[in-house]
Amino acid sequence: MSNVKTDIREIGLYINGKYVPAHDEGTFDVTNPATQEHIARVSEATEEDVDYACQAAREAFENGPWRTMSVQERTEKLRKMADIIIERKEEIARYDAMDVGKPYESTVAHEIGRAANNIRFFADFVEKQGGETYPMGEEYLNYTRYEPVGVATIITPWNVPFMLTTWKLGPCLAAGNTAVIKPAENTPLSVSLLGEIAKEAGIPDGVVNIVQGQGSTVGTAVTTHPEVDLVSFTGSTATGKKILKGGADTLKKVSFELGGKAANIIFEDADLDKAVPSSIRAAFMNSGQVCLAGSRILVQRSIFDKFLEKFKNAAMDLKVGDPQEKGTDMGPLVSKEHYNKVTSYFDIAEEEGATLICGGKRPDLPDHLANGYYLEPTLYIHDDSKSRICQEEIFGPVVTLIPFDTEEEALQIANDTDYGLNGVVWTENLQRAHRISHNVRAGTIWVNCWFVRDLRAPFGGFKKSGIGREGGEHSMEFFTEAKNICIALQ
Ligand code: NAD
Repeated sequence: MSNVKTDIREIGLYINGKYVPAHDEGTFDVTNPATQEHIARVSEATEEDVDYACQAAREAFENGPWRTMSVQERTEKLRKMADIIIERKEEIARYDAMDVGKPYESTVAHEIGRAANNIRFFADFVEKQGGETYPMGEEYLNYTRYEPVGVATIITPWNVPFMLTTWKLGPCLAAGNTAVIKPAENTPLSVSLLGEIAKEAGIPDGVVNIVQGQGSTVGTAVTTHPEVDLVSFTGSTATGKKILKGGADTLKKVSFELGGKAANIIFEDADLDKAVPSSIRAAFMNSGQVCLAGSRILVQRSIFDKFLEKFKNAAMDLKVGDPQEKGTDMGPLVSKEHYNKVTSYFDIAEEEGATLICGGKRPDLPDHLANGYYLEPTLYIHDDSKSRICQEEIFGPVVTLIPFDTEEEALQIANDTDYGLNGVVWTENLQRAHRISHNVRAGTIWVNCWFVRDLRAPFGGFKKSGIGREGGEHSMEFFTEAKNICIALQ
């Protein structure tokens, strides 16, 4: 049984250094997807609140100390922020377990440490960042400065609320910008803590602001506001298109991390002792609610049955249950709406003639979890790469195995998608590993591994999986303006 208190939390907007109610005192409720218990009442920002937050961020940018303070002073505060995140990591992970349904054990072990690193990494980065000089003989000297852009909107999805927000907030603040954060409406708990964490770290009021509410209202207001200069967004491709259109009038700079439908390609010479557990993680981590999920598993026909047997057994061994409990591999899906969306693909798969191997239903669980949005790990076989289950991002614990014969065929299927976020290849053949990596049209390719991240490396999508890159200098390029200064020397 969960030992977490489920008394209802009251969460305000965080504007100009204070938690405040919405102008009209409006709120919305947040529920725990593991149980459907009501766990929080959250202030719902109005247009006036969004305006107030954007004006506060503008004032802090133009007239506050953040932009102009020394890099040493700014990075000291950011490192303090990272330390506080580590001190409070259990509380943060508990919150993510409560509103996302994310297993607590793995969140506390991996994600929150990464969140702190996101802040620390970019503090270190700006401290080392220099500029260029371009002497023009004895007459002129050019040099560059990397200056903050201004007020940034940060919009994040519900699947990784805290870690993904810090992945944007780290470079945003390190560069000297100010921020208005809009977390996903169904998972605002952990992100709401960033206000008090920033304050305790000594970050001036107005530099970090948080406005909660629906995407269609608060999201729209914060991505079209004239005081906002840039939008860093992670979410669905459909929302990315709306933000791009809405930001056109004020010419906002955008960085988009969008959806995916990755191919995980298993060749006949793959080391299955490594490929199977890694493919299980890629398919079912966070109940498959991961943009990088390996949701299309392409398996060479000569080893298809062998792989299937091992993969199915490992999938059926996963422990689905209470996200707060030790040993849980898969919690519930995030919400009723999302559960309905994911389960609608069971009918689609049947209509499309896919073969169900396991799953496709709720697991048997103890009474206290009877109302949670749980699903068994679900596995289909299908050879029609154009089918909806092979083309659309289901974003749940549902994967399709697709057989192939040749390398050319594997590549053709892998690239037969509008998405291009990532790909995975399992082979012991070095030449083939390189050939596949070069020819799959996606922003990250993992060879004989999955989800290994180096914060210096570029991260982002080809095709409809995004615009721009995050990571190291790529994040800093987005959050800064490069300025050339040319000085006459005579
Ligand atoms: P979503 O696009 O519905 O929502 C994401 C965020 O955008 C939420 O905060 C939401 O309130 C806000 N939003 C919704 N409509 C808006 C609008 N009109 N204007 C401004 N903001 C708006 O996505 P989701 O369902 O929360 O998240 C799942 C999606 O995110 C999947 O497609 C997944 O692949 C993607 N994702 C991508 C990455 C990546 O790094 N590429 C990482 C995680 C998730």
